[in-house]
Amino acid sequence: MVEQQSQVDFLFSGGTLLTMDKERRVITNGALAVKDGRIVWLGPAAEASGRFAAAQTLNLTGKVLVPGLVNAHGHWAMTLFRGLVDDCTLEAWLEKIWKVEAATISAENVVAGSELAMIEMIRSGTTCAADMYWHYGETTEAAKKAGFRMVNGPIFARIAGFEKHRNTTYNMALEYLDHYQNDPLIHLCLQLHATYTTNRSILEEAAQIVKDRSLMFITHASESRGEMENVRQQYDGMTPIEVLDAAGLLHDRTLLAHCVHLSDAEIERLAETGASVVHCPSSNLKLSSGVARVADMVKAGVTVAIGTDGTASNNDLDLLHEAQLAALLQKGVTGDPTVLPAEKVVEMLTIDGARAVGLDKVIGSLEVGKLADLTVFDFDSYNLTPCYDVYSHLVYATSTHDVSDVMINGRLVMQDRQMLTLDEADVKARVRAIAQKVRDL
Ligand SMILES: [Zn+2]
Repeated sequence: MVEQQSQVDFLFSGGTLLTMDKERRVITNGALAVKDGRIVWLGPAAEASGRFAAAQTLNLTGKVLVPGLVNAHGHWAMTLFRGLVDDCTLEAWLEKIWKVEAATISAENVVAGSELAMIEMIRSGTTCAADMYWHYGETTEAAKKAGFRMVNGPIFARIAGFEKHRNTTYNMALEYLDHYQNDPLIHLCLQLHATYTTNRSILEEAAQIVKDRSLMFITHASESRGEMENVRQQYDGMTPIEVLDAAGLLHDRTLLAHCVHLSDAEIERLAETGASVVHCPSSNLKLSSGVARVADMVKAGVTVAIGTDGTASNNDLDLLHEAQLAALLQKGVTGDPTVLPAEKVVEMLTIDGARAVGLDKVIGSLEVGKLADLTVFDFDSYNLTPCYDVYSHLVYATSTHDVSDVMINGRLVMQDRQMLTLDEADVKARVRAIAQKVRDL
């Protein structure tokens, strides 16, 4: 009896699958089928042959299919200010950036900047990213339109000069959270800019919402020496980690950006509470904030993801570049070349990144039942020839130009390097017009 073919939407066939599943299987000459936005089958291409009737088949010969990369920290619309303020301290940088932002940010401008950010992230293999920026409701709509997976939520901050943009109220926060509940692409969290830009009552309010709704909680913490000093003064000698801990905001749904300045006890406490950290090495180096103790955190059992931060302090959204820097930095500062091996860094980009943003059950690895967030690398490139180890190439040798195709939630958003959901020429023109206004300030 002839077995009936199963109908699927996409069949990727012929290349290497880097699954990042528990066994860390690498399937050469593999195939992967996608239906209704999910991975429904994966295995050797020979076994897929004749088994599926696919609406679209993608030939992976010479290519490597990996789980879509997760950029766990950023400020998307800061693409508008790339290269505007460089070569100064975090405090001086914030002062300048806040002034320009206060004069130029509007919902329309933030959407243009965020669309440019999504183009850059998709082109460098990212399928899911966290954002922390103003006009987050409009950015959320832009992400849905582009088919991009976003971790986003109301942001609490009190920064002078930004009252009209920034002061999220309790009710505004709840309204947003109600509206985007159960959205297939939008994953909710609650955010505080930082402990030094909020106060105890805002912390308590945020902690209550996070607890009531079992939400992810995201904030900047222990980024610079200046911040450590400010927080000590504002909170009776406490560190940012101690302040968050006292507010009940350290738990397994907490994601802390930076964590450059941590004591041994604080690293232990993060491990104990299950709080995750997102490491942003370019931004930390560029602002001379220091180098986070990533190797120590990983050793202690803390989940560490990788993030680009915003383009005004990086100055790009290329997670591959960030991953290479993360690996090299730890080897340099610890004097131990065995720390953060390539496979671990790929974990940080995929399954650990997914865990850090609370999504490891649905993305971060190629497994049946998971959402189809996929990145294809073309390994037939001069810089990837020959290939002895896929992990090594991904961390130490790939560049943005090696990413050929990207799928998010079962929808192709880039094919053969052509953007399918965002009009790159139009977005660039809008951003250039905004930049003219920034120049005239
Ligand atoms: Zn940041």
